[in-house]
Amino acid sequence: MAYLTLKGINKIYPNGFHAVHDFNLEIEKGEFIVFVGSSGCGKSTTLRMIAGLEDISKGELLINGEYANDKSPRDREIAMVFQSYALYPQMSVYDNLAFGLSLQGVDDDVIDEKVKHVAHILGLTDYLDRMPRALSGGQRQRVAVGRAIIRKVGIFLMDEPLSNLDAKQRVTMRSEIAQIHRQTGATTIYVTHDQIEAMTLADRIVIMNNGYIQQVGTPYELYFKPVNMFVAGFIGEPPMNFIRARLENGSIRIHQSCLNVTANLGCHAQEYEGKEICFGFRPEAAVLGSQENAFLLDAKVELTEMLGDNTNVYVNIGPHNAILKVNPHDAPAVDSEIRFSIPKDSAYLFDAETGAVING
Ligand code: ADP
Repeated sequence: MAYLTLKGINKIYPNGFHAVHDFNLEIEKGEFIVFVGSSGCGKSTTLRMIAGLEDISKGELLINGEYANDKSPRDREIAMVFQSYALYPQMSVYDNLAFGLSLQGVDDDVIDEKVKHVAHILGLTDYLDRMPRALSGGQRQRVAVGRAIIRKVGIFLMDEPLSNLDAKQRVTMRSEIAQIHRQTGATTIYVTHDQIEAMTLADRIVIMNNGYIQQVGTPYELYFKPVNMFVAGFIGEPPMNFIRARLENGSIRIHQSCLNVTANLGCHAQEYEGKEICFGFRPEAAVLGSQENAFLLDAKVELTEMLGDNTNVYVNIGPHNAILKVNPHDAPAVDSEIRFSIPKDSAYLFDAETGAVING
């Protein structure tokens, strides 16, 4: 049995806005789950329903097999870290860490041991006497995380915990959060709009759009087996290139090239004949020059961006735009005409109307 079960969960706010639709998910004990999606897609609302901070309008929440819709936040065995840290400004770091345990009536000796242990894990030992205002953003965030992990809870909820940090601190805290998860083994649900955080931290990612789950899967599955154009376009930077074209006699014409996509369409070839489909390929799948067993395309280079480990090449394929990610040593010159290849097994085809992937 799953540790946490969300069955047909919906949220309709009092103003009538339907923020979350039929959210179904089973979470195993110890899993690190990330909810990802653009701002406003319903991630925090879902997290807050799990925490008990928002009512569930419809559906069932089970924690450890028990119906939990009506349980108060305190009885849910949950600790939450917010974007705003929510530290007590008038208390030292030590007291901020100790506060929850004192409320529970835990002995001072035990509290002292736990505070020192958590401070050690999070590199806060030298800051225990400081007040929050005398800490950097990263240190404050560590105190917020420390306050959550000091209580032995079953579920750890984090809502955009790194968004107030600068880019470098974010990378450091990200690996610390991964380490803490390994050490504590606590089931974690983490909300972010940042696909890199999602890809690097998650055992499984739940990708949302407009209140609906689009796909649930491992980072590998979401990247290599997206179920639709939304997921394909959300995961990956720069995003997947999409080119719309009509299927005629099993082939699509993209500017000067005629690509026979019959094999990729498999049993769906007949169904899509005469209809528009979307041809997708990732910037990093493109190989300069002509390759065997690949779709070949001719393009003109508009712009290049040297990023160090790779160069983004912006091209026009006739009226279509695309971005290719290439080795900086091989980057073509601006204005040059190039031919590039997309290995056939790296090409994706989507239904142009629904956006669903067409599995051959
Ligand atoms: P996310 O965390 O993905 O950015 P939220 O879950 O915060 O998104 O919000 C989802 C949608 O619900 C948004 O359109 C937001 O404006 C709306 N929303 C959030 N809180 C309320 C509320 N109290 N009343 C009405 N609508 C709300």
